[in-house]
Amino acid sequence: MADVILAISALSCMILIFTAGYHLIRRAVQASKFLIYALAALILISTIGIMAGCSTTNQPTSETISSNSGLNTTKEQQDLNQQKNQSQTGNNDKQVNNKATGTLKVHFIDVGQADAILIQLPSGHNILIDAGNNSDGNLVVKYLKKNGVKKLDHVIGTHPHEDHIGGLDAAVKNFKVGKVYLPRVTHTTKTYEDLLIAIKNKGLKVTEAKGGLKLDVGMEVTAELLAPNSTGYEELNNYSAVLRLSFGNTSFIFTGDAENVSEAEMLRAGYNLKANVLKVGHHGSSSSTSPAFLKAVSPKYAVICVGKDNDYGHPHSEILYDLATAGIDVFRTDQQGTIIATSDANTVTFNKKPSEVKVRTANTGTINPKPASSTNISPSATSPSSGVAIACIDLKTEITTIKNNSEAAVNISGWRLVSEKGNQEFTFPSGTTLAPGETIKITTGPNATAGSGVLVWTTENIWNNDGDPGALYDSSGKLVSRYPR
Ligand SMILES: [Zn+2]
Repeated sequence: MADVILAISALSCMILIFTAGYHLIRRAVQASKFLIYALAALILISTIGIMAGCSTTNQPTSETISSNSGLNTTKEQQDLNQQKNQSQTGNNDKQVNNKATGTLKVHFIDVGQADAILIQLPSGHNILIDAGNNSDGNLVVKYLKKNGVKKLDHVIGTHPHEDHIGGLDAAVKNFKVGKVYLPRVTHTTKTYEDLLIAIKNKGLKVTEAKGGLKLDVGMEVTAELLAPNSTGYEELNNYSAVLRLSFGNTSFIFTGDAENVSEAEMLRAGYNLKANVLKVGHHGSSSSTSPAFLKAVSPKYAVICVGKDNDYGHPHSEILYDLATAGIDVFRTDQQGTIIATSDANTVTFNKKPSEVKVRTANTGTINPKPASSTNISPSATSPSSGVAIACIDLKTEITTIKNNSEAAVNISGWRLVSEKGNQEFTFPSGTTLAPGETIKITTGPNATAGSGVLVWTTENIWNNDGDPGALYDSSGKLVSRYPR
């Protein structure tokens, strides 16, 4: 529009000047008439000037607009503006996607029977979850430095057990630290004290780790704590801070040593638990990774941070069985060393090939979810009728764990747990029922104490530390499960 007016004005201006000039030359006009023509010409010239100025101010917009088409009508301009807005929205989407580019790296550092996880965000920020045992502090610090870490923006001590916070004081001392998160529970060990002193000496304050807390990690990644969700637990493991990260189409869940109790709370709280990668809870112990929790997470990959030949029999065979039968690729620090998962916002890749496992069931022969076999696992000879099995007999702590792997509740009243070497047996009291996925512990020895889900057999030592198989018989006397197989 402005161009058309400009052209008309310029043309009129020229005509006026020519007319004035012509009259002047011909001297056929009075001076006053000439002045009127000249004044009109002046007004027109200044109008053109103003319009040209305006048109210069508008230039970037008109240029952007007219680069698509020549505009003549208001309607067209509206259409174009609309197109332009749409394309800007498109750009915004693109920007959002662009933000989800870059690389997110998760290092499951091999610290033996312990956890230490470094997360390098695409923004360059770092999160450290746990740092192994006391003796692993230097190893973890070295590993972080080797990987270019200068600052730990978020440090999470999942729970006060030494295999998680042992090396954390060294990490706090050696790096700049943003925020430190710990669950609200005290622990009277020197390890825990050392950590609190290191935090205090750095002038840092502890942020309480609890379900629902969002970590400020920038735009491209979301990080939220999903646990703990209660203020008190019998088992320290259930205080574990659980972190879920999502980056583009990929997501990770880090569970510390959270056990079934905490898992059930996360399920009840209705959190989005879905994740491509699951850091398996409690080093693959049957106390964690309940069927319902595993189903909610539905990971494609699982990483187990665990030490070779550890005292606890981790990872427990039934957890390996559950992971394998669900078609989940399993990575293990005891077999493969440090595992690095890399996300490009769309897919997750690993620096190692998954651990190859072959699963054998008691009665149905072999389920073979993996082509080759380096580990044979079985669900502890689970009776197909009940699904209940001995998950673990810890000879040292004298704790036997029995789990219901089935989808239905099983009444185990009158069932017997037998120590085969000493031929001692414990009979389950009437009214003992295991819900789907539920575990029950039977403790023996001088430290045996009853609690929720814990039964005391005797305060005598029952299990021979040099190896002592256990057997579980149902009320009809049928062998249900043996451990180890
Ligand atoms: Zn642990």
